Amino acid sequence: MKVINNIREMQSFAESFRKSGKTIGFVPTMGFLHEGHLSLMRQAKKENDVVVASIFVNPTQFGPQEDLSRYPRDEEGDRAKCASAGVDHLFLPTAAEMYPEPPSVFVSIEGITDVLEGAIRPGHFRGVATVVTKLFNMVKPHRAYFGQKDFQQCAVIRRMTRGLDQDVEVIVLPTVREADGLAMSSRNSYLDANERRRAAVLFRALKAGEELIRAGVREPEQVRQKMRETLLTEQGIEIDYAEVADPDTLRPLEALSGRIVLLIAVRLGTTRLIDNLLVL
Ligand code: AMP
Repeated sequence: MKVINNIREMQSFAESFRKSGKTIGFVPTMGFLHEGHLSLMRQAKKENDVVVASIFVNPTQFGPQEDLSRYPRDEEGDRAKCASAGVDHLFLPTAAEMYPEPPSVFVSIEGITDVLEGAIRPGHFRGVATVVTKLFNMVKPHRAYFGQKDFQQCAVIRRMTRGLDQDVEVIVLPTVREADGLAMSSRNSYLDANERRRAAVLFRALKAGEELIRAGVREPEQVRQKMRETLLTEQGIEIDYAEVADPDTLRPLEALSGRIVLLIAVRLGTTRLIDNLLVL
């Protein structure tokens, strides 16, 4: 596996792969890798000639009060994991190279970014869309892989590639979970043992919501209420939202029919956790 730090070098590798007819699969990450990330890399390996993964903790997607400075890092461990998952090129750009001057060019997507994560984290999706576009311009992928864990992010990226005619296929893969249902996340490392045990309630709440829908409940408010009640069975959970939404627009649903996504965000101690479940 080759490690690349430099943007120009990344672009010239990408150019040469494309010239020789090789397909490029790309997995953008913020590092501190776990099985969720590795599942994306392994799938990219199956579907492409060359796999590029990037690790970049992107400052422009963090709010001023958020966890940028304490975001977990493990470059050495991450390198080994990428190599074992079949990554051919690991791209590790520096913040200084990504943003040589205070950023003044942004990609912003309207509508879908006003709700849920976008409402609670203003500017977050603008930071994500901007950095992903920049990374696409560096890695020049044919296919890019994202996790359903970040459901709204996937919807934003899909919309972005369509809206800007970015010539890349967006592939979304299922959320990888721990044995008790907790969605894997780099941020789970913030949890102490007691919080870690309580964190499994997010998945229980999603399943409780799903169960109501499968039992024929057609009133979204009942499903929201059930998810909230379930979340509050654990101490110290502060709910940002427990929502029943349209998977395409992310707008809250007023009646339940067709495809539905349940989305939860909570704070547990100093850790913010999100999860979601598609009900088809
Ligand atoms: P992050 O490093 O958290 O920015 O995540 C990088 C990519 O991995 C994003 O596309 C995430 O949605 C995806 N990802 C994170 N956690 C999981 C998970 N538990 N299962 C599947 N994909 C994940």
